[in-house]
Amino acid sequence: MSQTQQATTVDVAIIGGGLVGASLACALGGLIEAERARAGERAPLRVAIIEPQPLPSAGEANAYQPSFDARASAIAYGSRRHFERLGVWSAMATEAAPIRHIHVSERGHLGATRLHADELGVEALGYVIPNAWMGRTLHARLESLPIDWHCPARVESLEAERGGYRLALDTGEIIHAGLTVLADGGRGGFKERLGIESEHHPYEQTALIANIEVSQAHDGWAFERFTREGPMALLPLAGRRMELVWTHRQGEVEKTLALSDRVFLERLQQTFGDRAGRFRRVGQRHSYPLSLVTARETTRPHLAILGNAAHALHPVAGQGFNLALRGVMDLAAAIESARAESRSAGDPKTLEEFEAARAADTRQIVRFSDGLIRLFGIDHAPLGHARAAGLIGLNALGPLRRTLARRAMGIER
Ligand SMILES: Cc1cc2nc3c(=O)[nH]c(=O)nc-3n(C[C@H](O)[C@H](O)[C@H](O)COP(=O)(O)OP(=O)(O)OC[C@H]3O[C@@H](n4cnc5c(N)ncnc54)[C@H](O)[C@@H]3O)c2cc1C
Repeated sequence: MSQTQQATTVDVAIIGGGLVGASLACALGGLIEAERARAGERAPLRVAIIEPQPLPSAGEANAYQPSFDARASAIAYGSRRHFERLGVWSAMATEAAPIRHIHVSERGHLGATRLHADELGVEALGYVIPNAWMGRTLHARLESLPIDWHCPARVESLEAERGGYRLALDTGEIIHAGLTVLADGGRGGFKERLGIESEHHPYEQTALIANIEVSQAHDGWAFERFTREGPMALLPLAGRRMELVWTHRQGEVEKTLALSDRVFLERLQQTFGDRAGRFRRVGQRHSYPLSLVTARETTRPHLAILGNAAHALHPVAGQGFNLALRGVMDLAAAIESARAESRSAGDPKTLEEFEAARAADTRQIVRFSDGLIRLFGIDHAPLGHARAAGLIGLNALGPLRRTLARRAMGIER
């Protein structure tokens, strides 16, 4: 070993401190605190997390200024409950816009369906929160937890060894981990290097994201509209702003990105209609090519894969992070029960049980998001009428609609 290489041994190493990795670290930090409170049993869990992007300096999180351009995500009501358990919800809620009503429609067809939070007996169907704010509240919570932060630091190599994995960091440090969690968003190339295959279906669509200022108060309405080019969504943000997710066919987004703000707003108004009021201003526009990527394996002995590294979905139903957060909570629970039975975190039985518990939820959400794109992407008149009838019918069918809504909200599986 060279002089710069320090070696540490941990029970769990998390590669990536994005939304998913940071959420898992918060969950495990809570477990460590509980184990410490029962001092005297055995050494508490040791957890390391590695993230290359530098964090905001101490105190900066409190100075967060909401920006007109910030990207935001729709968080299901069930995810709010998970954030409560992680001890971050009260901070997160200060920048969260509640979704109280959802309106789903299809361009050129009459059908529309509406969902209301009060019908389901909840305060909100979900919340829209700027991604940067979610990240900051999770990182601020982590600062108070007994976790080994390696930041800024990048994992350069990951190799299986007896009893776990060996991680080499670009800082020269070496970490030996009984369980390694890949939460790198699929960006580090580790799956490929470990020979873990993924199914990859490009949608030949690109999502354009921007913040829009509207002429009237949105009153917590979120709109989902299916068009021939692909789905679009307008989600409520604080004040009179809404987050636009506008899907374009491949090769067409560049033209929309290049439009002047005035022409862009006119085109958007024409496509979306007036149901959210008049569109007054647009912020920076960003684009994301869309694919469905699902890893064929999400666990191996001493290894678990979470978040975008395990499944990247179409954002139409806003389910990617919500699904990942359920995986985070289930993995933390599996580790807790393994330790209660004196098994290690990376024990193959623990990971097999975790994988089996996650499989059905992941399959359902992938099928739901992908099915919506395929159903509404087919340009065929009889099908269009059937879809419209479906939307109208769904509106009339109270109990079924409520069941579907509760599932999408992450409060029923
Ligand atoms: C346009 C769009 C809109 C979306 N909207 C929603 C929504 O409304 N609701 C919803 O639930 N989901 C939504 N999603 C999905 C959601 O954004 C993802 O599920 C989520 O961002 C995945 O987070 P992650 O932590 O897995 O990955 P990432 O956010 O990619 O984080 C990975 C982290 O790993 C780090 N990393 C990479 N390589 C290394 C390395 N070698 N060593 C150490 N660290 C490394 C990176 O720096 C990064 O911080 C949307 C996605 C898109 C594209």
